[in-house]
Amino acid sequence: MNWFQSSKDLIAIIIATVAVLVSLATVIMQRRQERRAAYREIYTALMSDDLHKGRWMIRKVSEPGDIPKDELDLRLIYRTLGVFDNMAMFARHKVVPLKWVLEVWHHPLNEMRKGVGIIRKSAKESNGTSAAEPWPQLWILLDKAQAYHSTLPCCPPDNSWRGRIRRSAVPSRWRRRPRTRSDAAGRPTA
Ligand SMILES: [Zn+2]
Repeated sequence: MNWFQSSKDLIAIIIATVAVLVSLATVIMQRRQERRAAYREIYTALMSDDLHKGRWMIRKVSEPGDIPKDELDLRLIYRTLGVFDNMAMFARHKVVPLKWVLEVWHHPLNEMRKGVGIIRKSAKESNGTSAAEPWPQLWILLDKAQAYHSTLPCCPPDNSWRGRIRRSAVPSRWRRRPRTRSDAAGRPTA
């Protein structure tokens, strides 16, 4: 009887533990799905025609005189920066995967960096915004993007020890292909 009772208790404990683990795994999977859906949503917004145009307008700003005078264009630039600031906030609060944000956006963010700085300074000087520091979270993301080095061929090879460790952790099919002699000589490879 005693043996029966103790095995019953053990089985009950095992069942309860499995139930807790299953519900924990479900919560983690659900959270991952939600993060991916949130990323897809913000990606679709950023790739819409108008925000795409806004991003290219920001890229073209290399001095204060390049900032569009047209009010609609300026509003589009502010809206684009607002959505990027929002993406930075989502990444900071882990609503979207930061790794995905940086992997996809590190080059576009670096290309925007100078323009964003000039627009931000101009917005503060002209009282175009009541914020003391407009788009503050975007700056955190811009700094992260500047320091980011992808293991994909979009970035030059990072031969620091950190870069080597990161590269070795990437599945082989995603790794940069080694340069062949004919690549180095500028000739097309076979
Ligand atoms: Zn890159």
